[in-house]
Amino acid sequence: MFKLCPCGSLKEFSVCCHSLISGQTIATTALELMKSRYCAYVSHDVEYLVATWHPDVRSPDLAESIAEIEHDN
Ligand SMILES: [Zn+2]
Repeated sequence: MFKLCPCGSLKEFSVCCHSLISGQTIATTALELMKSRYCAYVSHDVEYLVATWHPDVRSPDLAESIAEIEHDN
């Protein structure tokens, strides 16, 4: 099934940000990274959002905080 990538590239998701989110490739530019993080946000991929947030600046209970927000909505 053809599904446009939520990042706005007008490419199919499977050939756009999916390879980054699934860990098959690594973002080479900040723009790619932020687009893939947006896609993860849209699809509620908490694991990817946490994994791509530098540990020095992220809250230690980030995953739980996101889960709580998800639960409330
Ligand atoms: Zn994309």
